[in-house]
Amino acid sequence: MTELAVDARGLTRVYGHGADAVTALHDVTLSVERGEFVAVMGPSGSGKSTLMHAIGGLDRPDSGEVIVEGQSLTQMRADDLAVFRRRRLGFVLQFFNLFPLLTAAENVAFPLLLDGRRDALRLAQTALDRVGLAARAGHRPGELSGGEQQRVAVARALVTEPAVVLADEPTGSLDSLAGEDVLRLLRAAADAGQSVVLITHDAPAAAYADRVVRLRDGSTVTVLDDEPTVSR
Ligand code: ADP
Repeated sequence: MTELAVDARGLTRVYGHGADAVTALHDVTLSVERGEFVAVMGPSGSGKSTLMHAIGGLDRPDSGEVIVEGQSLTQMRADDLAVFRRRRLGFVLQFFNLFPLLTAAENVAFPLLLDGRRDALRLAQTALDRVGLAARAGHRPGELSGGEQQRVAVARALVTEPAVVLADEPTGSLDSLAGEDVLRLLRAAADAGQSVVLITHDAPAAAYADRVVRLRDGSTVTVLDDEPTVSR
């Protein structure tokens, strides 16, 4: 049995055709162990989001395979993939994507409610407690700061106890202190056994990770010795 949470091999993704074709990923391989926190860094346009979308089953690569918890997302039927994504993957994006008319607790409960879970609101309350927002459960996003909204989004990503949390520039719209709160929560999730893939262009953010993978022009490049190291 594999200890890998993510085993992505030989991913290639080309957008467009002919003279307009853009190779966003070229033969990229990335594996992430259970409980490992990996930062993916690289300049704008280097393929980071394309890689995250492939690993998260949001987009199918043209070639290569993505295996999460031993299951091939690249071969899964679209409806099975939607369920797998909801149950086993958690997403945290740069903008919080919360429902404005739902309370924090209802936003966090949402993926569980889609599965008809009767304990959804109780588990949402526990997840909000985990991100330090138990007292704000009844508040709508408009009543919360940006940092608090992103912590609600982290709670929503964690409430299903996913195998893998994929975070795409989760601190990009936050001030540095609020960003550190979010990074500490992601670090704690990894320490609790979840795997975290953080996409960032920010070296201090990457320092929360166990390992840094660099992308350039759609390919992974060798990691240098002076990369940021683990900071807990
Ligand atoms: P990053 O996240 O590192 O900024 P992206 O993965 O978003 O990079 O993009 C990688 C390359 O693919 C870029 O050149 C970008 O312009 C191109 N690209 C991304 N999405 C599309 C798309 N839907 N259609 C055409 N080109 C795209």
